[in-house]
Amino acid sequence: MNTSIDQLKSAFEASFGRKAAGVVRAPGRVNLIGEHTDYNDGFVLPIAIERQTVAAWSVGEGEAIRFRSAQAPGEDAEVDLSADIQPGGPKWANYCRGVAAGLRAHGLVLTGCDVMFASDVPIGGGLSSSASLEVATAMALIAAAAATAPESRSKITPRELALICQKAEHDFAGAPCGIMDQSIAILGQPGRALLLDCRSGETRQIPFGDPNLVLLVADTEVKHAISDGGYAARRDQCYGAAARLAVPALRDADGPRIEQAAAAGLLAGKELMRARHVVGEIERVGQAVEALSAGDYPAFGRLMYGSHESLRDDYEVSCDELDAIVELARPTGGVYGARMTGGGFGGCAIVLVQADPAAAIAETIAAGFASRFGRRCPIFATRAAQGASVVE
Ligand code: ADP
Ligand code: MG
Repeated sequence: MNTSIDQLKSAFEASFGRKAAGVVRAPGRVNLIGEHTDYNDGFVLPIAIERQTVAAWSVGEGEAIRFRSAQAPGEDAEVDLSADIQPGGPKWANYCRGVAAGLRAHGLVLTGCDVMFASDVPIGGGLSSSASLEVATAMALIAAAAATAPESRSKITPRELALICQKAEHDFAGAPCGIMDQSIAILGQPGRALLLDCRSGETRQIPFGDPNLVLLVADTEVKHAISDGGYAARRDQCYGAAARLAVPALRDADGPRIEQAAAAGLLAGKELMRARHVVGEIERVGQAVEALSAGDYPAFGRLMYGSHESLRDDYEVSCDELDAIVELARPTGGVYGARMTGGGFGGCAIVLVQADPAAAIAETIAAGFASRFGRRCPIFATRAAQGASVVE
């Protein structure tokens, strides 16, 4: 990433006519296991990936923040600090505006500055380019404020920062996301996955740093039309199932309770299927943590397949492209497990593999995908990366 940081600094200088004073970064993420559990108060297990949004910044002269992005050429944004910060155009900068507004509401005295972003997180691909943009924005604005008034160095905990970024995405970008993406972008550690309790906000770092392991991320590059409505419908079905079971959330149910309710005719149809997935998936996260802690990757891999099948059959959020990647991976030597990741209906699949044959496995999957769909799926390899940090 060194050359691209140099490129970003040159682009910053060419665009703003002054040198960047500092550079910060925040990564994208994938969720290893625990899908569609967040809004059921369950557990998730993401890692930060080796793809990131980098932001160069410099304190400016006026009462404004200027945001520019290499991924949004010609769509420059400006925030007037003498007024209330509101959503506006261009759309992409609402993630940044929302973060500025949230930091100010938290008590940070914002300073006029210039910020330029460059990202190699695929945008809209389910790897959370949005959270990496939000967290990179926060890192830049906090650094600029501290450079102007060191005594203003903000006291914001990682949890508070994650909530500020999440609120920005809700209120300014109109996306009702959970807290996972922002949390991992902030708290990610190299060689660690983050177990996050979506009810309490508690976190625990779980070993995921074996040098003989690599995670392949395969992008279907599709987003099927059912995506948005399908998500809301499933959330409602989960809440409906929890209500029938008389529990606050499906987190509070378990397998036997669900089957009892099914036998008694209390739970049926789609609600029963959704509840089976959520309860089973929360259980799998617990087992996955044990498997990783014991270095038992075959066991972890079986849980990945189990998660995929449950998402495909009970939650009905997979698609042909995701299923194909998992089925291409399964019989290939050196593969521990594979599953869709993210909300579904497209986006990415992940494949846990041995490091040595990783490139050959990626080739097998991309070629198999091409013979089925007429185009290759982009695949990259990653290990668990560092969360947000100051680069210089
Ligand atoms: P994902 O988070 O899965 O990549 P989202 O739809 O949540 O997909 O977020 C994508 C949106 O985030 C883009 O449409 C754009 O508005 C914004 N975004 C993310 N990264 C950048 C960037 N580097 N420059 C400009 N906008 C970005
Ligand atoms: Mg997003």
